[in-house]
Amino acid sequence: MTTLTLRDITVSLGHGDARTPVLRGLSASCRPGMLTALVGPSGSGKSTLLAVAGALLRPDGGQVLLGDTDLALLGDGERAKVRRERIGYMFQSGNLLGGLTAVEQLLAAASVAGRPARRQRAAAETALAEVGLGHRLKHRADQLSGGERQRVALARALFLEPDLLLIDEPTAAVDREQAGALTELIARRAAERGCVALVATHDPVVVDAAAEVMEM
Ligand code: ADP
Ligand code: MG
Repeated sequence: MTTLTLRDITVSLGHGDARTPVLRGLSASCRPGMLTALVGPSGSGKSTLLAVAGALLRPDGGQVLLGDTDLALLGDGERAKVRRERIGYMFQSGNLLGGLTAVEQLLAAASVAGRPARRQRAAAETALAEVGLGHRLKHRADQLSGGERQRVALARALFLEPDLLLIDEPTAAVDREQAGALTELIARRAAERGCVALVATHDPVVVDAAAEVMEM
């Protein structure tokens, strides 16, 4: 089981006069097997922190330790490999591939992670049913609502069985009943798989279900 440890992370974003310090010496640790809620006001740097933890954004300083590996020190190619193979990421926007159906989104991600898509279709369909999208398997990204796209992205992140699940505001675009169900699914998967699940959220439903709460 892999722990995520952030040590003294600093990040500034933007260029020239617009350059803004966003994270100033942030340190935190997320234990595997449980849901950690990442809370803080809008603009406090939650999405930025997820990008750093997910090896999408290299911090200006500090360590990003996934187990023994410092993601901040890896080259671009190695970072991409870690992202494909060990990290499941659900962006606020969903970030799906245009033109692919819901099932194909999961199969494509598995294939990119080096897992042949053959024989995975049934598992992909189950993963979509678990987020309440059993009736949308063959819809393309552009035929889904914002909340449905987010749920496809969540199913895709879970389907990869990553060491590190990074989830950005998963319940913002769904009703309260779904918010509870999705939160329970994330917490259950973290427990079953022993992965880190870091979830940026404003939602009391998620915060109440979290084993740990990290405040920005
Ligand atoms: P949160 O997810 O908590 O709402 P974000 O991580 O998205 O916060 O943003 C943190 C801060 O970083 C915000 O104040 C935002 O304005 C700033 N920021 C984000 N991107 C840029 C950028 N490209 N240039 C300058 N500032 C940025
Ligand atoms: Mg955000």
